[in-house]
Amino acid sequence: MKYVSLGDRRVSAIGLGTWQFGSPEWGWGRDFGSDDARKVVHQALDSGITFFDTAEIYGRGRSEEILGAALRERDVEVMVATKVWPTRIGASAVVAAARRSLARLQRASLDLYQIHWPNPVVPLAWTMQGMRRLLDQRLVGSVGVSNFSAGRWARAETLLGSPVVSNQIPYSLVQRSPERSLLPYAVQSKRAIIAYSPLAQGLFSGAYGPGYIPSGARSWNPLFSAGRLVRAEALAAELQVVGERHAAKPTQIALAWTIRSGNVIAIPGARRDWQVAENAAAADIELSDEEAARIEAAALPLQLGGGSLLLRGGRIARQVVETGLRRWTYR
Ligand code: NAP
Repeated sequence: MKYVSLGDRRVSAIGLGTWQFGSPEWGWGRDFGSDDARKVVHQALDSGITFFDTAEIYGRGRSEEILGAALRERDVEVMVATKVWPTRIGASAVVAAARRSLARLQRASLDLYQIHWPNPVVPLAWTMQGMRRLLDQRLVGSVGVSNFSAGRWARAETLLGSPVVSNQIPYSLVQRSPERSLLPYAVQSKRAIIAYSPLAQGLFSGAYGPGYIPSGARSWNPLFSAGRLVRAEALAAELQVVGERHAAKPTQIALAWTIRSGNVIAIPGARRDWQVAENAAAADIELSDEEAARIEAAALPLQLGGGSLLLRGGRIARQVVETGLRRWTYR
């Protein structure tokens, strides 16, 4: 397993994302459930994964509960990251949300607490005041952000008065816009990038195509439009060719590409234990520059630009405002 610095800790370069747990938009309760999720977490531990990502919003708290319970069955030291939803208005609301996450995860402190999305109507200073209190009370080990631009990330750090150790962003072979400013900023400031959707939500598995488009969360993703699925066939073929050289699956080649830079942690989600075992093994694959260039060229026609993130950001921001007005509540 390859390891990456995250704040003052070292974590596996391949982590586990757990949006899938408890989330009906990923088929929870239909084609997978508690038993599968428990096996996924235990397989992750057995495969050397030491970094786990969840969020209060995933399954409206269920993901945190499921992850916390599965981890408690094993006596191992891991880093657990969760996220506060950006409708928490004011420092006290951020602290209260963290306490609820701690209870669901059954942990004494949150190793990494991230702001899930920027909120254009809630001053960042208020949120960072909450983060400051959590650090001072040792309820949080380190602070991160998610879906932040480099400028906003730097501002969050100034407001906190200590390092904001990571930014969780979409980064994969088909979402390379972070290479323009976010990755250079992270390298220069010795911070980490946590790459979400590194498998393009399963597109790289080759399991989906124009005749078989997944439902739920993926039906919102422009990657799964029928046209893109056709264009994805050339990339699938290249991933296969490079994979044969390494006796590896296309998904493993895509993950090995994502963590080539020394400060990127990829957090693929999984619904089956065998998926996690394969994903963890990808950390040991070294791609040559020629192989990387080859798959990058094949992925070029599929790029989702920064614009796409902005569009998604705009949609989420609108949702944040609307849901903020309705006051999100969790159990
Ligand atoms: P992803 O990791 O790119 O894709 C996950 C899907 O890939 C799985 O559900 C599974 O598909 C498939 N998969 C995983 N391993 C596989 C393997 N070895 N072989 C074949 N298929 C495999 O996308 P994601 O779930 O969107 O992102 C990962 C994590 O990032 C999430 O769980 C969450 O923790 C985090 N995230 C954060 C944000 C944010 O705003 N901060 C946004 C999105 C995600 P099937 O379901 O078809 O089996």
